Amino acid sequence: MTVTELLETLPYGPAPEAAKPALEWIEAHKGRFGLFIGGKWRDPSTQEWFASINPANAKPLAEVAQGGPEDVSDAVKAARKAFASWGKTPGHVRARYLYALARQVQKHSRLFAVLETLDNGKPIRETRDIDIPLVARHFYYHAGWAQLMEGELSGYEPVGVVGQIIPWNFPLLMLAWKIAPALAMGNTVVLKPAEFTPLTALLFAEICQNVGLPAGVVNIVTGDGRTGAALVEHEGVDKIAFTGSTEVGRIIRRATAGSGKKLSLELGGKSPFLVFDDADLDSAVEGVVDAIWFNQGQVCCAGSRLLVQEGVAEKLYGKLRARMERLRVGDPLDKAVDIGAIVAPVQLQKIQQLVQKGVEEGAELWQPSWAVPAEGCFYPPTLFTNVAPASTIAQEEIFGPVLAAMTFRTPEEAVRLANNTRYGLAASIWSEDINLALDVATQVKAGTIWINSTNLFDAASGFGGYRESGFGREGGKEGLWEYVKKAESRLPIADSPKSKSRAKAKTAEAISYEPPAVSALPPIDRTAKLFIGGKQARPDSGYSKAVYGPQGQLIGEVGLGNRKDVRNAVEAARGAFEGWRRTTGHNKAQILYFLAENLEARAFEFARRLELQTGADGMAEVEAAIQALFTAAAWADKYDGVVHNTPIRNVTLAVPEPIGVMGLLCPDDRPLLALATLAGAALAMGNTLVVVPSPAHPLSATDLYQVLETSDVPAGTFNIVTGERDELAKTLAEHDDVDAVWYAGPQAGRAMVEKASALNMKRTWTLPESGPLPGMDEILRQATQVKNIWVPYGA
Ligand code: NDP
Repeated sequence: MTVTELLETLPYGPAPEAAKPALEWIEAHKGRFGLFIGGKWRDPSTQEWFASINPANAKPLAEVAQGGPEDVSDAVKAARKAFASWGKTPGHVRARYLYALARQVQKHSRLFAVLETLDNGKPIRETRDIDIPLVARHFYYHAGWAQLMEGELSGYEPVGVVGQIIPWNFPLLMLAWKIAPALAMGNTVVLKPAEFTPLTALLFAEICQNVGLPAGVVNIVTGDGRTGAALVEHEGVDKIAFTGSTEVGRIIRRATAGSGKKLSLELGGKSPFLVFDDADLDSAVEGVVDAIWFNQGQVCCAGSRLLVQEGVAEKLYGKLRARMERLRVGDPLDKAVDIGAIVAPVQLQKIQQLVQKGVEEGAELWQPSWAVPAEGCFYPPTLFTNVAPASTIAQEEIFGPVLAAMTFRTPEEAVRLANNTRYGLAASIWSEDINLALDVATQVKAGTIWINSTNLFDAASGFGGYRESGFGREGGKEGLWEYVKKAESRLPIADSPKSKSRAKAKTAEAISYEPPAVSALPPIDRTAKLFIGGKQARPDSGYSKAVYGPQGQLIGEVGLGNRKDVRNAVEAARGAFEGWRRTTGHNKAQILYFLAENLEARAFEFARRLELQTGADGMAEVEAAIQALFTAAAWADKYDGVVHNTPIRNVTLAVPEPIGVMGLLCPDDRPLLALATLAGAALAMGNTLVVVPSPAHPLSATDLYQVLETSDVPAGTFNIVTGERDELAKTLAEHDDVDAVWYAGPQAGRAMVEKASALNMKRTWTLPESGPLPGMDEILRQATQVKNIWVPYGA
């Protein structure tokens, strides 16, 4: 080849990274790794081992232990033992350990990067420049939170022993996302890496030893799904943090239901990548490369649905095909390779099958002209155009380098297409018009939105899903709440001394109220109806239910709502949601104040009703309920987000958003106060409600609809269905159009709600039927989900 020819073609020469140091490290362990439990290495009780294989050449790298239930149990015990002191270790000391871990990751960064590439098949360029630097960043960032915890999260304490289960797509990075915040907040962990990619977790265990991390603070138990299941089911675990498929997430939701274990789930996605006609198309093409060919498309938040405005679709596809033609697939250790190996043959088959399905369903397939290496697990970058929005490849997570493209005409249609998925992990929006981009960002249902960018991650920004992409956040301050609990666990809502004396004065002055003898009660001639879509409604069942006072006297009747009533109420709440969500915080506050005002105007009536129901001081409770509505109103325009300090030229807006349609099954204690507190906060945050009043004391809630009618609460925002708590709870928890259920009730009901919620992975929050309510900070957090919007700037 002449120099001129060389200059014309500029072919890539091989630029291989040496595998030797990583292979030597494996060799130094004689190619076999045990479990890391209580600071020591040991063989698994199963005496079973499995091979970890390099997907780029199908050669086994090492043998890894299959941890059994006994091993999981020992690891949990070791973590519990370590928790006794680690949980009390001063923040500064924990910060030093996290800092030391970060330093170790940096000092051995090349070894980690090469080992990760060998085990997973992802290009060295990615492990070296993205995964491992982000791992170090996570430990540094969380060292800071360990240092600051006492001041910034005062009143909170660690949860305890945390079981963590991670997938194979970002093995060490997912480990860091899980272990760094857990340790920072004073928890101890048992972590199960994915079967395909356990090696970097084992190297990490070694650096834990190197820095002298106390034995048992971090335990690594390798194994397959059975090991994960044993960890999930173990009684000694206080929290489970899981990243992986929605399918396994659902199993875990059901398995932990009713156990009281805290749970965070980071699940799958089918994230939209929206390109408007004013976008910089060349940048957008590079964005697509990052969105769907980064890590072979094996990314939970991969931009796997390309939605393009019709006028520029063909132009964009043309540019994209030209770019795809020049992508390089091959040896992941080659520094000039863009796309490495698919993690395992089974994953490759899954991709092939879904691509075949796409062809059968009529989409147009395009792949570059060159062939991928014949040996090893490789798949070419693939573009489908003319994809029908309801087709399999537009709806199912492929988890491979396959892009499904569709077109839209208007921003409204773009939003509808973007939200036409059961997932809600991320979205990428491309437009040079910031007004349009931010407007669309607020409407797309996803936990992370990138504007004119994609796949940006940082420890300072939270990451996590809406809808079936799971719940809980990792990273940012919002991620810390997953690893702490209130020190006093539950806060009493104390009546202020002022309200008590005022209540007393009123009682003395005007009520002088004695509960009437049963014989003196007026005849029961009124059955409280349900309240749906702003109107009173008779229960579909045609049945009513008696309500008794504390002495067993009959004091009223309420309608016995059934699943049809719930269905109507959910429909009304869904219909009202968009309008209520968009109502300004100021206006929401006005409505809540108005509600409080109208409740005050009828305070005596409500007090009397409460006393009839519970025998307790009714006026004090009404006063407290008015205060609770004031508190909710106060928060309506003050529950701000934050701007995260992520390390690029960028503002990352962490915006709290409502969850959506919420089922609220009220506790029995102080029925009016509990309702005002919980419903007030949920409304203040922009949710719409289907309220099921306490079955023991429902009458204050049913009286409330007269107050609602006079307080400008928009129809459908606040619906009330009385009846059997658990029956209605089940319907709500199973309902696909309900986004969250708050349930206060007996243990069996709590378990039932959590289990039933797994159908669409709705968020649940369960409380006992009686006892003081949690503090307002926790209630507001439960009423919202954080959306992180990344907005880069700079010319
Ligand atoms: P899984 O959800 O099956 O695995 C994730 C982790 O959970 C692994 O450590 C796995 O162990 C473990 N696990 C499996 N079954 C159970 C169980 N019953 N109880 C507790 N833990 C369990 O993902 P896969 O690795 O099998 O990938 C399958 C699909 O999931 C992919 O094709 C992709 O669509 C999606 N996925 C999504 C990810 C995301 O980040 N959203 C990440 C990875 C996969 P083991 O590895 O040993 O099976």
